[in-house]
Amino acid sequence: MSDCIFCKIAAGDIPSNKLYEDDRVLAFYDIEPKAPVHFLVITKEHIKGACEITGENSALIAHIFEVIAKLTAELKLDAFRVITNCGAQAGQSVFHLHFHVLSGRILGEMG
Ligand code: AMP
Repeated sequence: MSDCIFCKIAAGDIPSNKLYEDDRVLAFYDIEPKAPVHFLVITKEHIKGACEITGENSALIAHIFEVIAKLTAELKLDAFRVITNCGAQAGQSVFHLHFHVLSGRILGEMG
């Protein structure tokens, strides 16, 4: 999508602090980290959010969690939280599917 910042990052048109990339997903550090370790895993395909996951694209979600397991192991993170916000009221500000991975501090209760 031409006006989507994460599509531009996936295309390499906007730089990111990249951790991992393959043909389907990209992982990069969040520009405004909410924890000592805070990275995002995004789909390369433009999917608006968790509300658009279907039988057609759900294999991508399994792949994202495989990538998260690989990256957190490489970073030696034994405790981490994975979050996806869907909808503005839930805190979604970029309307392109992404998973936050947070670690490096005690993460409080979910609010
Ligand atoms: P959300 O609010 O759940 O939609 O998450 C969007 C996240 O993207 C926020 O944590 C932002 O800090 C992050 N973000 C926005 N622009 C960039 C960027 N150019 N590079 C890295 N992270 C970004």
